[in-house]
Amino acid sequence: MSDFAADAERIMAWADELAAFTEEPGKLTCTFLTDAHQRTALWLADTMRACGFDEVRRDDIGNVIGRYGADAGMIDPRRVVTGSHYDTVRDAGRYDGRLGILLPMALVARLSAQGRRLPVDLEVVAFAEEEGVRFGSTYLGSSAFVGRFDPALLERADASGVTVREAVQAAGGDPDALARPATAPSPAIAHYFEVHIEQGPVLLDAGQPLGVVTAIAGAERRRLHLAGTASHAGTTPMHLRRDAACAAAEIVLAVEGLCANVPGLVGTVGQLSVPDGAVNVVPGACVLSLDVRAGADDVRDAALARIDAAIDAITAQRNIDCGRQTLLRGPAVPCDVSGQAAWQRALSAVNVPAYALPSGAGHDAVMMSSVTPVSMLFVRCGNGGISHNPREIVDVADVALALAATHAFLLEGAGLGA
Ligand SMILES: [Zn+2]
Repeated sequence: MSDFAADAERIMAWADELAAFTEEPGKLTCTFLTDAHQRTALWLADTMRACGFDEVRRDDIGNVIGRYGADAGMIDPRRVVTGSHYDTVRDAGRYDGRLGILLPMALVARLSAQGRRLPVDLEVVAFAEEEGVRFGSTYLGSSAFVGRFDPALLERADASGVTVREAVQAAGGDPDALARPATAPSPAIAHYFEVHIEQGPVLLDAGQPLGVVTAIAGAERRRLHLAGTASHAGTTPMHLRRDAACAAAEIVLAVEGLCANVPGLVGTVGQLSVPDGAVNVVPGACVLSLDVRAGADDVRDAALARIDAAIDAITAQRNIDCGRQTLLRGPAVPCDVSGQAAWQRALSAVNVPAYALPSGAGHDAVMMSSVTPVSMLFVRCGNGGISHNPREIVDVADVALALAATHAFLLEGAGLGA
């Protein structure tokens, strides 16, 4: 793939350049509509223009959108949209989100330099916000793009009391335009695809540079409140205790065991606390979180049923009361079947073995799926698969392969039969 090596080097250099726009010196932190974020948006718009996009605009929420028109012989008015987010978590890696913006930009630069057009209108969107860091709400960019922005969010404030409305206004956007009722995107979006670093170790472990995403996992998040009896750690014999933390410990291991060995299923207890715990008190209460995800809703719900049965058995045996609170329930988003097939053909065109995997993390494609079929290409994550961390890395050779595969995917009309 030496043909794409120079373009891949360019993407790596661009990612380095963008990482210099940060709120925290020495780290990459770029949250929604901060100064670093707006400088990133300006850089993206300028660079898109230099790449040869026909039109570059910034919308009210801060998405930067570049359009590269189709071949003149094309009469299909639909467009294919691709992109990802340019905001980051705190102390982030430089490829999460940005790779999915810079890669199609490099492709357009290449096509434009060759005087070539695609069989479809292509729009590359740099979404302003996906991570939810500043205002605690995710997908602000893609929800606005598809006309599903929640107007109630305009009054939400960040840690220093600045509201979304004020931030949008200060950045030159019109908050009231965001609040207007949704209209269907026009012209219609025929397909959305997203290239993203995997953010996990699956491709690395499989020795596979690229993978086609089958579905974006749905998640259910709960909080469990265990109640036993707080009593004196010295005077309460072991057999007379109602220890909430011991029940929690058994539940943590049950979740691990019940989610093991089912492909695509993961379960995590990420928070565990003994409120008002003390060194000399038997824990009378324990609060724990539960996050269960799978690429298919029936797999996730079956796991939750098994976990519930285990919790019932553990708490009954230990005489502990258990309150359950559902915090979030998001359905899985299956990727378009013909889009997946088109990606697999694109992999084979660049001599990468076929490979499919679910995405355990949410992406802008989730929001885009409300208006169009979606597909995703994952690029192998180095350094053990670490992400949301400055050690996040992609290999330039894998980026070259992703470019070649995306090139093949687009020349074929993104699987639309164009
Ligand atoms: Zn991301």
